[in-house]
Amino acid sequence: MKANCWMGRNTVEVREVPDPRILNSRDAVVRVTSSAICGSDLHLYDGHIPTMEKGDILGHEFMGEVVEVGPKVSTLKVGDRVVVPFPIACGDCTSCRHGMYSVCENSNPNAGMAEKLMGHAPAGVFGYSHMLGGYPGGQAQYARVPFADVGPIKIEDDLPDEKVLFLSDILPTGWMGAEMCDIKPGDTIAVWGAGPVGQFAVASAYLMGAERVVAIDRFPYRLETAERAGAESLNYEEVDVLDALRDMTAGRGPDACIDAVGMEAHCPVPAMYAYDRVKQAARLETERPYALREAILACRNGGIVSVIGVYGGVVDKFPMGSLMNRSLTLRSGQCHVQRYLKPLLGKIRKGDIDPSFVISHRMRLEDAPRGYEMFKNKLDDCNKVVLTP
Ligand code: NAD
Ligand code: ZN
Ligand code: ZN
Repeated sequence: MKANCWMGRNTVEVREVPDPRILNSRDAVVRVTSSAICGSDLHLYDGHIPTMEKGDILGHEFMGEVVEVGPKVSTLKVGDRVVVPFPIACGDCTSCRHGMYSVCENSNPNAGMAEKLMGHAPAGVFGYSHMLGGYPGGQAQYARVPFADVGPIKIEDDLPDEKVLFLSDILPTGWMGAEMCDIKPGDTIAVWGAGPVGQFAVASAYLMGAERVVAIDRFPYRLETAERAGAESLNYEEVDVLDALRDMTAGRGPDACIDAVGMEAHCPVPAMYAYDRVKQAARLETERPYALREAILACRNGGIVSVIGVYGGVVDKFPMGSLMNRSLTLRSGQCHVQRYLKPLLGKIRKGDIDPSFVISHRMRLEDAPRGYEMFKNKLDDCNKVVLTP
């Protein structure tokens, strides 16, 4: 089959690779009908997540048709149409039973690698480094889905791929980012990053009853998308974000702040940006936590900082004094996607949300290298790329 493979920093290549097959009794094999490129893929593309190997198949947002099931998968049959969540989860361990699927204790065969860096290991994730299990991803014609009796959700009506594909990751992620804010009527929520994840966080915050949502980014076309969802916007290249947020909230700051940027934040203050880039390049810190620092400093006393942007290792100049002295709560996590599949599919069916609004580019799988370049460099107003084999 054809698959999009990581070949080193800033290089992906669509190559011929062996077809996946059933390895365990709870596996299924899915013929992929649609996949997408995520901001998390850019962290791999840019070489910031360790333990990638040349030839690894990328992609953790995908859906398709079941073509084979293992003997212990009674919930799916050949021909079913499914969306596959990006964290791989067994459904039986303590974490899974508490709904914490992205920290499943049984799905990461390389747990030891992650423990060295993180203390304990998170779940396995499709196409996301050997530290997270070394599973081949879904930017391919076919994919093996472990624990297929737990993760995939069947799509039984005629909703098109484009409306349900993002259940695999970014819609539940944006939703969880807003949910972690404990939104109450009257709340103001600020969202750093107006990429697809930030856009779904904006939409979710409104669905949860936020009164005001402020989106922060530097790309006007992305801020305009957030504005169409009702948000106010701040371009951090034009205003001082901390001052502007103070002005908008009678000096107190937003009730909750969502970091939907992660480890590759850009910073408008050249000296600060250079400092973090140099330290990141020298491996003295693994992230550029500029949006995270700002989200903490901006948040009102006693407020919540919700981190859905991805971080991989250690951050520098973390404003712990601000967090501690001002009684802030920090929440975070890779999304526990399985937890949100049914309720969010229900909202899509009812028409409360149509996630396809994030798509800007549709391409063939063969064009993945062009898709990565466009999405990385935000060329041609690129917002979200969907690939079809
Ligand atoms: P994206 O690259 O399309 O969007 C990131 C946006 O952040 C860009 O528009 C960029 O201009 C903006 N940005 C950069 N620096 C900023 C700053 N200092 N202040 C404000 N905005 C800034 O990526 P995406 O697909 O929207 O993903 C966003 C983040 O969410 C990534 O870190 C990704 O890894 C993460 N993510 C997490 C999960 C999870 O489960 N927690 C799931 C999916 C994605
Ligand atoms: Zn993703
Ligand atoms: Zn588990």
